[in-house]
Amino acid sequence: MLFTNNFDGLILKNEIKGIKIVKEDEQHIYIQAGAGENWHQFVLYCIEHGWAGVENLSLIPGNVGASPMQNIGAYGVEIKDVFHSLEAYHIKDKRFVTFTLNDCEFGYRESVFKKKFRNQFVISSVIYRLNRIPDYHISYGAIGQELEKMGVKDLSIRAISQAVINIRSSKLPDPKLIGNAGSFFKNPEISNSQFSTLNSQFPNIVGYDLPNGNVKLAAGWLIEQCGPAAGISWKGYRKGDAGCHEKQALVLVNYGNATGSEIYDLSEEILQSVKAKFGVLLEREVNIV
Ligand SMILES: Cc1cc2nc3c(=O)[nH]c(=O)nc-3n(C[C@H](O)[C@H](O)[C@H](O)COP(=O)(O)OP(=O)(O)OC[C@H]3O[C@@H](n4cnc5c(N)ncnc54)[C@H](O)[C@@H]3O)c2cc1C
Repeated sequence: MLFTNNFDGLILKNEIKGIKIVKEDEQHIYIQAGAGENWHQFVLYCIEHGWAGVENLSLIPGNVGASPMQNIGAYGVEIKDVFHSLEAYHIKDKRFVTFTLNDCEFGYRESVFKKKFRNQFVISSVIYRLNRIPDYHISYGAIGQELEKMGVKDLSIRAISQAVINIRSSKLPDPKLIGNAGSFFKNPEISNSQFSTLNSQFPNIVGYDLPNGNVKLAAGWLIEQCGPAAGISWKGYRKGDAGCHEKQALVLVNYGNATGSEIYDLSEEILQSVKAKFGVLLEREVNIV
């Protein structure tokens, strides 16, 4: 979340706690967590009990209640892969509503709560469907390399979680030490033909084929290639206390006293420079208030 102004309203911090099994079968454990549970602590709890499915999502800052909001995802796994249902309170109607997987309309960093039902529901608890037998995802990013470095012989959800923790700690700024909201922009999706055109102009452009035939571009790479002036990259750039992280151009950081609107203005400059160079419009992942 990025506040661009002082907020004249009421802010509720959800502290609804509790983790319990609501259903079990031979393959799955259905586990309900209160929206106010810390996400990473919840992941560790699942690993402790041998329940698989969320290990790749280790160390994502935030609470359980926000996890369906943007369908949090990392290292080839998204919340939708383990999501069963959630309970949410409709603020105007003053009643609880159950949302199933289909109701949430999850997409890449998207759900009904981010756009269609924005600011209408308070999520109170989420039920995840976890696996008794793990289905490991280690091909994405540097997980395989990190596991090798760790000397892991027998793959486990605990080892994967630790590998993810190591990678994230080494390249992402800790919000407790330096203000940031993780990836500021989404990775943009373009058509295959647009990708071919860009690829002929920029042979090193980073893109991943999607099942729908489109290509997802690495927004971090696009941003790195642009900058505030010729020969200067956004990566590691700092204007006052607003900046672009030195190890990951996709992450905007606040070195101390930058205002929300200064961060927003920097994001706008970045967005415009990427549009001018590549003709690709970046979309902000962060919720702007
Ligand atoms: C260093 C860093 C790394 C990150 N890495 C990732 C990543 O790998 N993948 C990823 O997906 N995200 C990532 N993020 C983003 C962030 O961690 C997630 O968006 C997370 O879900 C935010 O949780 P929160 O509890 O802090 O929510 P907030 O930031 O407080 O809220 C986010 C939005 O959800 C709404 N919201 C929160 N709780 C509820 C609720 N109970 N009911 C209704 N609406 C609610 C808020 O109103 C707001 O619009 C990263 C952030 C940081 C700082």
